[in-house]
Amino acid sequence: MKTCSKCGEDKEGGEFYKKYSQCKMCARDQSAKWRKENTEKKKAANAAWYKANKEKAKESRRARYEANRPKEKDLHKKWRAANTEKIKHYNLKWRTENPVKHRACGLRKRAPKGTPEIIIETQAINNLIRHTIQQQEKQL
Ligand SMILES: [Zn+2]
Repeated sequence: MKTCSKCGEDKEGGEFYKKYSQCKMCARDQSAKWRKENTEKKKAANAAWYKANKEKAKESRRARYEANRPKEKDLHKKWRAANTEKIKHYNLKWRTENPVKHRACGLRKRAPKGTPEIIIETQAINNLIRHTIQQQEKQL
């Protein structure tokens, strides 16, 4: 028999871990508590560090992003190369479903900076109407 130094109960030797003066139950409680306290402490420390080093944290995140960028670009390129047909199909579908938006896209690139969206859209619609009429005239 052994007396637990924590709960003070007399327990069999098997109820203790080797070299521990606390019984297994108390030792488990203790380590769970320790872990919980520790995670909270770590969290608090992390938050405090982040608060004190906001700029540094931002900087290091950006550095990591910059370091990964070539890799990501490369992956993107590879994906595009492997999916050209899919992309083409997708673009075509989008263009067919959004003729005004598609035209507006092209116009926006050519329009002077700061041209209001409404003007670009109106032009896109006019363009589309003109184009449709031309197509119909061709067919006649
Ligand atoms: Zn105990």
